[in-house]
Amino acid sequence: MLRFISLGSGSRGNATLIEADDTRVLLDCGYSARELTERLARVGVDAASLDAILVTHEHGDHIRGVGALSRRFRIPVWMTRGTSLAGDCGELTDLTLFHSDSEPFAIGALNVHPVAVPHDAREPCQYVFSSKGLRLGILTDTGCITPHIAHAYQRLDALLLECNHDLRMLAEGPYPPSLQRRVGGDHGHLNNRQAAALLEQMDRDRLQHLVVGHISEKNNHHSIASDTLLGVDADLENRLTLLRQDRASEWFEVTAEAEIEA
Ligand SMILES: [Zn+2]
Ligand SMILES: [Zn+2]
Repeated sequence: MLRFISLGSGSRGNATLIEADDTRVLLDCGYSARELTERLARVGVDAASLDAILVTHEHGDHIRGVGALSRRFRIPVWMTRGTSLAGDCGELTDLTLFHSDSEPFAIGALNVHPVAVPHDAREPCQYVFSSKGLRLGILTDTGCITPHIAHAYQRLDALLLECNHDLRMLAEGPYPPSLQRRVGGDHGHLNNRQAAALLEQMDRDRLQHLVVGHISEKNNHHSIASDTLLGVDADLENRLTLLRQDRASEWFEVTAEAEIEA
């Protein structure tokens, strides 16, 4: 069994829960420990049941509650060395460090394949997860699609992909020029067209869920993001979900083909 749920996604906080059999891993905790505990409770999950917190990078919208949540419920934390040097989590008693180019490793029943990405953080890292042959890719906070990323995000059964901004809305939007350059630069965030270009390069036959996240509330519209992605492949329409900042998504179940036919 492999399934995942977004507890919220966007520049004010990100957290995704991934379950493989009896293993529960929280990817990022960009909310306070209290807020995250409440969001988990609303979807029927006890924060004390988490097996690990895995972190992508040290920006506040990903790391805000990691230290407090880990200490309150004695949850082990996993992150890159660079993220631990740059991030402020306070004292962590059970911390496992790795590099963004590490070989895949296991957290319980979940296999974790770190993928180094260009982003304005110390050692940012995104992940392809796998369990019993099923593969889930999560890719946000990435300035551009490198060949390394395009190679890693293949043969996926589910993908959570950043569509941060629309280029024109960013240029005409409220951000000052320096922030526009940061967000739109090669170490910033993926725009709708960059996300669509990755999708175009992917083999999409196996893809059961295309989940769109880290959508800017000021520099993007859900309709522009979905239209841009569906422009690549209109058949994805009934597999497409756009995430919200203010609430959790539904659960996304990733199943083997045999189970679908059964
Ligand atoms: Zn972020
Ligand atoms: Zn970031």
